[in-house]
Amino acid sequence: TIRLDGKTAFVTAAGQGIGRAAALAFAEAGATVHATDINESLLAALPKLDNLKTARLDVLDNAAIVACVERIGTVDILFNCAGFVHGGSILEMKDSDFDFALDLNVRAMIRTIRAVLPGMLAKKDGAIINMSSVASSIKGVPNRFAYGVTKAAVIGLTKSVAADYVTDGIRCNAICPGTVESPSLQDRMRAQGNYDEARAAFIARQPMGRLGTPEEIAELALYLAGATYTSGQAYAIDGGWTI
Ligand code: NAD
Repeated sequence: TIRLDGKTAFVTAAGQGIGRAAALAFAEAGATVHATDINESLLAALPKLDNLKTARLDVLDNAAIVACVERIGTVDILFNCAGFVHGGSILEMKDSDFDFALDLNVRAMIRTIRAVLPGMLAKKDGAIINMSSVASSIKGVPNRFAYGVTKAAVIGLTKSVAADYVTDGIRCNAICPGTVESPSLQDRMRAQGNYDEARAAFIARQPMGRLGTPEEIAELALYLAGATYTSGQAYAIDGGWTI
């Protein structure tokens, strides 16, 4: 069993889905967890635990990130989970959607990593976990241009940070899920008009014949939060999608 006693964890997009499950898993493992999200009502619905603290944080706002990390102090574990899925091919994509995807899916991670790294370097210890996707440099997925480009960039930034700080006690890894049952996936399935058909199509692309759960992805996040001999890796956890 992985224990994180004495560690401080900072999780973005912890209000629902994978971020929520990971924040709870880190807390269960004994870490002091700072669960942040742009949506305060989701944070208010998290279980009340002594070692689970919540704060509203918009990861598009660099000053807010800096202030948040100042309040937290030294961060041992950073889980960059915030991200958004745009649909559409290169011809269908609006430039404004691409700008937004880059800002939320990539720049936000640059902001948080810049904010926590000095503290981690002073301690010569730190685990950074970035949320990518198998829809990235691992796999081209139809109708996911902005998403695929930005999630590929997450793998690049993960490897780059890992390479720069591998001798300084910093591990930086990426998680690349397949299709995970989360509130935003529910929204995407509903938005397609025929929910049952959309759900069947998402399940059909998962060779294991089902969607993943946020808790299954949180188990990998917990592993990477405690892992000491891996860095710069993109971990696929995808129900067999990329076999
Ligand atoms: P979700 O999409 O259901 O929830 C996202 C959360 O992010 C919400 O709580 C929302 O309030 C928060 N958020 C949105 N904008 C924010 C901002 N500017 N600042 C802070 N928080 C913000 O959760 P999910 O589906 O578990 O996705 C989490 C991550 O996992 C994303 O990066 C997503 O791309 C990635 N991912 C998801 C799947 C999937 O199938 N669900 C697959 C691969 C990767």
